[in-house]
Formats: sequence, structure tokens, C-alpha cells
Amino acid sequence: MSTNTDVLNRYLFDNTHARGELVQLDKSFKEIITNHDYPAAVTDLLGQLMAATCLLTATLKFEGEISVQIQGNGPVKYAVINGDNLQQMRGIASIEGEIKGTSLQDLMGKANMVITIIPKQGERYQGVVAVEGETLAECLEHYFATSEQLATKIWLFADTTTIQAAGCLLQVVPDSEDKEQQMSDFEHISQLTATIKPDELFNLDANEVLYRLYNQEQVRLFEPQVVSFVCGCSEDKCLAAIANMGKEAIIEHLNEHQQINITCDFCKTNYHFDQEKLNPLLNPN
Ligand SMILES: [Zn+2]
Repeated sequence: MSTNTDVLNRYLFDNTHARGELVQLDKSFKEIITNHDYPAAVTDLLGQLMAATCLLTATLKFEGEISVQIQGNGPVKYAVINGDNLQQMRGIASIEGEIKGTSLQDLMGKANMVITIIPKQGERYQGVVAVEGETLAECLEHYFATSEQLATKIWLFADTTTIQAAGCLLQVVPDSEDKEQQMSDFEHISQLTATIKPDELFNLDANEVLYRLYNQEQVRLFEPQVVSFVCGCSEDKCLAAIANMGKEAIIEHLNEHQQINITCDFCKTNYHFDQEKLNPLLNPN
């Protein structure tokens, strides 16, 4: 059994010009999947996407959100996970056709990965990369290569039986004059990290995993961050959406259906608004 789940760890290697992140997801991933009845291949995709989004939000240097979305022309129209600097995550996949295989291509068809960074203050940034590799990890590595131009390695795993996900990110820290040495150090750390086994990630706590991978290295761990599922939907937000319909449309809908029902796409909570609840909207003082 995992002892320390839903945690993101960041670490730094002394003297080897590399930094790392390790995320292990259990409860928060289960909460994102629950009530949705996704096929296993989609659960797997969302697990990897969730781990990827945690790793990306950990690179945020300001308060804000990151959304990682894959859009394609396959049976899965899109899969998206949103996360913020507090590691509060939510996400969803939309399936429209029959899923006939389990590869990224089978699910998404011809697809793009759209990464949107939304700072609380300042301008949003959007990066788009074509999904060309076999795996989500390859696709993200490609994103880092083009957007940040920093050598980055990513490992993503999901287990659709136990509903756990995990991921690891390794990035060069460009603080050395000797670029060749820097890259060979990074290669060395990459090779150590590549020995990572999904079973270990799903069953051991971070300290144990890091010890197994890097016991010959000097690793400095930062304060771990808890990852949680936070939907963010509320009756107030639903009311604001209803208000946007306009008074006439609301009255029309009430006359026909007696109430307005809204189901949250992310957590599937049902909200019901009858005439009485909507009166403040219809007759504001
Ligand atoms: Zn919700």
C-alpha cells in the first residue's frame, strides 16, 4: 500500500546541473475519474495527463493556472486537466465515438496538445504542439524543447486497475559554463531516472523512490506539496451562468420545465434551481 500519496516533490542535484520533480497520485486521481465511467484507455490517458499537469504547474513561478488539453479528431474529442500553483486539479475527457484501440493515436486521432498558462496577474500564454510521438511524455518533451529550449525528460505512468498515476520530470539547470559537462551530467541523471519502475512509484513513498534512484547523488528535497482534486463548481457559479441566459430565456425555460438543472461536467454534481431560487435573479431589488 502506498504510504504517502497525492504529493508532489521537487528536488535539486548538487553539482550536477539538474533538477527534478516526482508526483504520485492516488485519491485525487480517483476523484477525477469517479462518476464518469471512462473506458480504461481513457482513464490511463487522464492519469498520465494529470501527472503531466502537476509536473507543469510545479514549474510555475507565480500564482496561476495551467491547462493541458489534447484535442483531436479521434473518438476522444478532448482530454483536459487544469491545475494551479496550489496543486488543485480537475479534469475531464469527452468521448464521442467508439474506441477501438488503446494507443494515443487510436484515442485522439490527429491531435494537438494545447498548454495554456494563466497567471493571476499578467498575460496568458498558449503553446501548441502536434501530438506526433507514441506517448504523452514524448509530446511534452517536445513542448519543452520548443518553448523553453531546456533539455527535459518526462516519465508518465497510470494504473487503471488501482487507479493511480505518477510522473517524473528532469530538467537541466543551465548554470554551468561547461555546456558539454552539463549535458553529460544531465544524461547521467536521466539514465538513473529511467530505471524507475511504475510499481515502485505506486507503492513506495517519495523518499524511498528517490533513494533507490539517486543514492549515489547529492539530492536536496524541497518542501513537498499536497495534490488535491478541487472542482470549484458552486451554486453561485451556476447562478451566474443562468443569469447570462437573460431574463426572458430563464422565464421561458421555467414555464416549460419548472426548474433549471445544471450538472457539473467535472464532478457530476447536480444543481437544481426552481422559481423560488431564481426569484432574486428575475426580480432584483
Ligand atoms: Zn463540480
